[in-house]
Amino acid sequence: DNILEVRNLQKHFNLSNNRVLKAVDGLNFAIKRGETFGLVGESGCGKSTTGRTIIRLYEASGGQILFNGEDVQKMSGEKRKKFNRDMQMVFQDPYASLNPRMTVGKIIGEGMEIHGLYSGKEKKERISQLLRDVGLNEEHASRFPHEFSGGQRQRIGIARALAIEPQFIIADEPISALDVSVQAQVVNLFKKLQKDRGLTYLFIAHDLAMVKHISDRIGVMYLGKLVEVATSDKLNAKPLHPYTQTLLSAIPVPDPDVQKQRKRIIPQGEIPSPLNPPSGCPFRTRCPHAMDQCAATMPPFKEVEPGHYAACHLL
Ligand code: SF4
Ligand code: MG
Repeated sequence: DNILEVRNLQKHFNLSNNRVLKAVDGLNFAIKRGETFGLVGESGCGKSTTGRTIIRLYEASGGQILFNGEDVQKMSGEKRKKFNRDMQMVFQDPYASLNPRMTVGKIIGEGMEIHGLYSGKEKKERISQLLRDVGLNEEHASRFPHEFSGGQRQRIGIARALAIEPQFIIADEPISALDVSVQAQVVNLFKKLQKDRGLTYLFIAHDLAMVKHISDRIGVMYLGKLVEVATSDKLNAKPLHPYTQTLLSAIPVPDPDVQKQRKRIIPQGEIPSPLNPPSGCPFRTRCPHAMDQCAATMPPFKEVEPGHYAACHLL
């Protein structure tokens, strides 16, 4: 039961001097209802652009986005309105994403007004309830964002996203800007809300160590392409793509004996510019296993084992 299906999704940006930035270049994946799908990769790999294109903050350059089986790009009128409710986003920066001149109550209630959901006393009660649901309290409704810590502001951002009862939340690095000490609390809040409300998450992160605990399945992106998709368990136990192997090898393990045996694989050199990606396999300039074939042709993204997809000529 897929709530979201993405087929050959592309988002290209035309820059000056006829240059084209292929930020998202042919993604295929599906997200099941009620699961958390983690999308990881280094900064600039296109993961935020993917999220923004799915929610239609950007128009796709190509491909299809199906939400509950319906083509998102063809939605208009009531269907579009419903989609705008059903899918919400939580942003990375809880400082920049909340209007400093609005009270917390107004910020959370704004969407309810736009969508004509609640008003008056009922709206006020809903806002109080939402504040409690995210670990704040109703007195906070009359205060302004600057009066809160980073973690609290992210809770406000989550309450705002929940205010219009979405089915699907895109969380774009929602904890990266927070102190390490509060990151786990916010992750736990996401988990609890998912359980209580049956939410589905697309959880974007640059850190595999973080996303592997919250995600049921994970997609690994590199230079605008998905290089591997698997369940979180499989990806951790048996990563198939050399890029995923380098990401995993960088995560410390608690057991010192296991840690000793584990070899840190360091990818060679820097990430190439997405404006000028390598021919063939995008990872070939940094891959310890690169062969002639890797420069010549792009490896297909294929199902190597049931439910485990990867794009590498070694497979
Ligand atoms: Fe490395 Fe070649 Fe596989 Fe790319 S296709 S990950 S360069 S072995
Ligand atoms: Mg980003």
